Amino acid sequence: MMVFWEGYVSDEAMGTFAPIVVYWLYAGFYQVLPPLDSYRLHTRKEEEEKNLVPLWSVVKGVLLQQIVQAIVAHGLFLRKQWAEQKCNPWEITGSTQLVAVCRGSESESSVREQRAVSGVRICYGALRAQRAKRVVLFDPENERLSRKLAEGKYGSDGVVEEDEVLLDSWYRQRPLVEVTSQASSSEVTVQPSLPIQIVQIVIAMLVMDTWQYFVHRYMHQNKFLYRHVHSQHHRLVVPYAIGALYNHPLEGLLLDTFGGALSFLVSGMTARTAVIFFCFAVIKTVDDHCGLWLPGNIFHLFFQNNTAYHDIHHQLQGTKYNYSQPFFPIWDKLLGTHMPYRLLKRAEGGFEARLVKD
Ligand SMILES: [Zn+2]
Ligand SMILES: [Zn+2]
Repeated sequence: MMVFWEGYVSDEAMGTFAPIVVYWLYAGFYQVLPPLDSYRLHTRKEEEEKNLVPLWSVVKGVLLQQIVQAIVAHGLFLRKQWAEQKCNPWEITGSTQLVAVCRGSESESSVREQRAVSGVRICYGALRAQRAKRVVLFDPENERLSRKLAEGKYGSDGVVEEDEVLLDSWYRQRPLVEVTSQASSSEVTVQPSLPIQIVQIVIAMLVMDTWQYFVHRYMHQNKFLYRHVHSQHHRLVVPYAIGALYNHPLEGLLLDTFGGALSFLVSGMTARTAVIFFCFAVIKTVDDHCGLWLPGNIFHLFFQNNTAYHDIHHQLQGTKYNYSQPFFPIWDKLLGTHMPYRLLKRAEGGFEARLVKD
């Protein structure tokens, strides 16, 4: 899968900085909209009266959180990159030539030569499983590999041992993962197929939701944490887009950064998939705080946990409900913290999300 930043910026750098850029673009878009009084969930007067912090300190707070987040994210990606390099001991790149020597019953003497260009699909796990087949990796530009072959470490004929990386055209018909060549010739990103990436994103969403629900709820129940950390986010009783990530830096670290890291690691997604996932999560979070009930907003159509749902949580009577964020209301519903609401039209224009108490 080619991406527009291919060859310019690494996936890791994109995973760190794209969500920040996307945040300001999407929140900025909401900020420059005209007042739109007939779609607001709170009146402008209410926003002025109830919010306890001016816009400029919200902007400063968000920037501070994003700096901390970028540093931690960068460190995490570096670690993952290091782990991936360990999984690619052959340093297979787009210019590696692969000479497949098939042994075993079906094709005793067939020797095939193929050039592994960008997009060749291999899977290390599957390769290892096919013990009957062998492969020689030859890459004149790959000094480390050439040296190993010259040293005869992998057999006098330069044949890789069976339990090492193997490749055969058989795998071309059963692609499991894709090798994309990178700007730097010593790196290989193994990018899974689209359905696998979608499954990984769904897993990441569930992990993120679970982490955030329990940490968020605990920060309301623990008086010390609420007073000194989470209450900062609730200074915006009437949320607006730019305030979506207005949190105490510790909360940003605990809720968003650790939550993001956990989703990333548990789902097993690549940095490239993470760029999509993190940007989506950021857009969703901004949208949940936009304070507008605009017709045709796809988040309002596809997510029960949306702007009005989270607005309930920001209202003074609603702070003990609707902790779920950012994607699904599952945990609220399972654990009895779900507060249904009705969306009423205000006489003076706009809407009001009103708690429905049993
Ligand atoms: Zn809260
Ligand atoms: Zn919020």
